[in-house]
Amino acid sequence: MLKPFVIHEPRTPQEASELLNEYGWDATAYAGGTELLVVMKEGLTSYAHLINIKTIDAIDAIQIIDNEAVLRVGAGVTHRTIETSPVIANHAPLLAEMERSLANVRVRTMGTLVGNLCFAEPHSDPAVVCMAWPGADFELTSTDGVRRVPPDEFFIDLFMTARQENEIMTAIHFPLLPSGMGSAYYKFVLLERPSANVAAFVSVTNGAITSARIAVGSVGPVPYRATTAENLLVGEKPGDELYRAAAEAVASAADPVSDLYGSVEYKQQLIRVLTRQALQQASERAMGVEQL
Ligand SMILES: Cc1cc2nc3c(=O)[nH]c(=O)nc-3n(C[C@H](O)[C@H](O)[C@H](O)COP(=O)(O)OP(=O)(O)OC[C@H]3O[C@@H](n4cnc5c(N)ncnc54)[C@H](O)[C@@H]3O)c2cc1C
Repeated sequence: MLKPFVIHEPRTPQEASELLNEYGWDATAYAGGTELLVVMKEGLTSYAHLINIKTIDAIDAIQIIDNEAVLRVGAGVTHRTIETSPVIANHAPLLAEMERSLANVRVRTMGTLVGNLCFAEPHSDPAVVCMAWPGADFELTSTDGVRRVPPDEFFIDLFMTARQENEIMTAIHFPLLPSGMGSAYYKFVLLERPSANVAAFVSVTNGAITSARIAVGSVGPVPYRATTAENLLVGEKPGDELYRAAAEAVASAADPVSDLYGSVEYKQQLIRVLTRQALQQASERAMGVEQL
């Protein structure tokens, strides 16, 4: 049973932040409500004031900014809009690919990408893609100003982020990928959400890997980068043996939590397989063998 609450409809991020300042712990922001209303209905939390961020002007914009170099996704943009947007399809198709496999069409129609990240549920599809995406950052706005936080500083713990109480996330920035860089996202889903997921970004020049980014998610409280394996790839010729060696390095360095989604060993094996698949696909996309 939901306790009574008042809905506020700010027109600017600053107005939303003023409301958060004014009502403190009694208030929270929401967008689609697909996570918040569930926990409120379960009685796990309650707020006397809900701040609807969807009434903020242009909060649902998808833009290419900074001289055509960066994709900016506003906080009101739903998963479904990302999945079907021609701008995303042209400039960041991995995001559309990831969104297509998230939850179901009802959740994707109401839920937002930013709401997913702010909730910081560990079994998240977008969190691991953002973590691996070169130069991605999250824009946080309050009455104190605007700051941009990279994903590895944003996710602190289970359901905990670096967002301050009076901040709302206003957008995510994704620098567009340079030519010669390929990306891939793989996951394994047993229950409703991913049991393990891996995102990889690989650049290949003159037959050798020049940069690699790998992120692993859903196996512990927060997603993380697999930097040892990334370093192992740079300077090497792409190929199955290399992908297997890197996947082994990611799996053996992993420290997954044993839970309903699987044991430590089971998750290590998932990470091993998903990393190899993601590296192979990202490298093939980088070399133009496969188009995204
Ligand atoms: C049945 C089901 C299946 C799902 N399966 C998956 C899955 O397979 N993979 C996956 O990754 N996710 C999954 N999800 C999660 C889904 O992605 C999220 O529910 C959705 O993205 C949350 O967005 P929202 O706009 O509804 O957030 P809300 O519920 O509105 O908000 C969630 C939290 O974020 C905060 N918040 C929201 N927007 C802002 C903002 N702009 N600034 C500051 N704080 C904000 C709210 O205060 C709240 O704490 C599933 C959810 C359901 C219900």
